[in-house]
Amino acid sequence: MFKFFLRWIDSWSIPNRSKSNEIESSIAIKDTQIQWLRIIPFILLHIACLAVFWVGVSWFALIFMFAFYLIRMFAITGFFHRYLSHKTFQTSRPVQFFFLLIGTMSAQRGPLWWAAHHRYHHRFTDTEQDPHSSTHGFWYSHIGWFLNDQNFTTRKEVIKDWLKFPEIVWLDRFSLPVVLLTALSIYGLGEWLAAAYPSLGTSGLQLLVWGFVVSTVLLIHATLCINSLAHLYGSRDFETNDNSRNNLFLSIITLGEGWHNNHHYYAGSTRQGFFWWQIDITYYILKIMSYLGLVWAIKPVPQRIYDAHKSHQLNLKMNRNKIQTEES
Ligand SMILES: [Zn+2]
Ligand SMILES: [Zn+2]
Repeated sequence: MFKFFLRWIDSWSIPNRSKSNEIESSIAIKDTQIQWLRIIPFILLHIACLAVFWVGVSWFALIFMFAFYLIRMFAITGFFHRYLSHKTFQTSRPVQFFFLLIGTMSAQRGPLWWAAHHRYHHRFTDTEQDPHSSTHGFWYSHIGWFLNDQNFTTRKEVIKDWLKFPEIVWLDRFSLPVVLLTALSIYGLGEWLAAAYPSLGTSGLQLLVWGFVVSTVLLIHATLCINSLAHLYGSRDFETNDNSRNNLFLSIITLGEGWHNNHHYYAGSTRQGFFWWQIDITYYILKIMSYLGLVWAIKPVPQRIYDAHKSHQLNLKMNRNKIQTEES
């Protein structure tokens, strides 16, 4: 029993199933049973959304919900994804820690867990070894994959480059306590505001429910949509060996992650919206941060990628013309 609760507090208390150089065989161990006991915190988070009918609402709570969603989404896409998973830019150790801490507050497990599973996704996209292969259908690629045993541990063998930072390892191990502390702090803030600025009309519970619970559930599902919907709906501007799509709506709610077909074709650039009309808020913010000296060595999209796009579009056009000629 003690061991069970220890897993909630310290996610590294479970031994890593896979050893180095056994990447492919470790994934072959399939255990897709949902771990109902272990995911109790995740289920409670969803049920807690119903409290919106009970705690009332205020402009302050709604603005807080929106702002906390945005800053954490930026931390996820900018730092969990473009920095930790793909190393598409560089930054200082304090900035690195600050944004990985904000990202950890998103309740999407630890930064190393997140990046390691994402590296697997790129390595084996839409095959049996992909942790959330879209070939298993919407529900599995959206939510089923991370509720089962095989995807609970941090796959350290593909994230060795970051293990030298003890503060990142610490965030990864104790991600759930970080999330609980975040929730508690937001509750405390709400209580303080209720006493100090009653005109805001908020309270501890109201801010906890809107500012943390609802905001976090929206954030989790928006992020998960990239694994599910961005492999299902949208355009394919590049020829890739997977089902990745470019999707404007997903790009808006995830600050630029919806250009997923671009990203699967070329994951080495900081920018994911390769063209000026492909809105990529995370990239714009990182660009501003680079002017301020907070990040640097932002990797551009190489010219050959634009050339490949041009020739793919040309091929599509030629195929269309061919079909039209054959039909007439
Ligand atoms: Zn990626
Ligand atoms: Zn993908």
